[in-house]
Amino acid sequence: MRTVYVNGEYLPEDEAKISIFDRGFLMADGVYEVTSVLDGKLIDFDGHYARLERSLGELDMNNPTTREELLEVHRELVAKNEIVEGMVYLQVTRGSAGDRDFVYPDPETTKPTIVLFTQSKPGLAHAPAAKVGWKIITIEDQRWARRDIKTVQLLYPSMGKMMAKAAGADDAWLVEDGHVTEGTSNNAYIVKDGKIITRQTSNDILHGITRAAVLRFAKEAQMVVEERPFTVDEAKAADEAFVTSASSFVMPVVEIDGAAVGAGEPGPVAARLREIYLEESLKAAI
Ligand code: PMP
Repeated sequence: MRTVYVNGEYLPEDEAKISIFDRGFLMADGVYEVTSVLDGKLIDFDGHYARLERSLGELDMNNPTTREELLEVHRELVAKNEIVEGMVYLQVTRGSAGDRDFVYPDPETTKPTIVLFTQSKPGLAHAPAAKVGWKIITIEDQRWARRDIKTVQLLYPSMGKMMAKAAGADDAWLVEDGHVTEGTSNNAYIVKDGKIITRQTSNDILHGITRAAVLRFAKEAQMVVEERPFTVDEAKAADEAFVTSASSFVMPVVEIDGAAVGAGEPGPVAARLREIYLEESLKAAI
């Protein structure tokens, strides 16, 4: 049984409790982060902490912790649950005011709820899927307009994953005005004539922590990066495609809406970026 963390306490998972009036439960009034663990160490903890602070700030929610406290909780959970490869999930909600009301409760009397738990994923770094690549479908982006805030309202991304599953694919890319915004739970890229193309950050997409790291490594390796929206047709005609996220790292995309991308197998740019990302992030893991 897992040990989880709820509002200052480490508990067995079946003893952890949250109020039915918690605004995370009633209104998806909460934000989250997922930090991957490799070799028992945290990948890009500071990037995730910075984005947590930003998400909380955008929603006028108090930060219930400090960087040091949160790092300690992450490390405790990794140790207690003996995680070698996997993830630490963190969620902060606006808490429970003991009733349901659209208006935010007074932060002086209603404290945020904070929950963390681990997920063990042995073999995460050497996932067989990375050798095969993902098939994706494209669907309309019907999410709200503040996708830069990492909120727990994940119903549309879940629906997208179900649509992908029904179509025999691994995931879906979301499309708005003919242009790809991002994947259901990852950032989207294509490679054309050696150039890496991915949408620029704005309110339209989540500012992926893996995205920032991968683009930095790509530039350091003298690869050309172009940050701009791309169309589904461009993606289908690309030499390569891939996605990035904290749990999939760099994952090649080999098929879009049934059409092979390039040679229909993971391309050299995605493979190289995955290798550099895993190597460099492990070096910097804490
Ligand atoms: N976009 C969306 C919509 C996501 O849910 C995620 C993963 N949480 C990402 C992009 C990738 O972000 P990160 O690299 O920080 O995991």
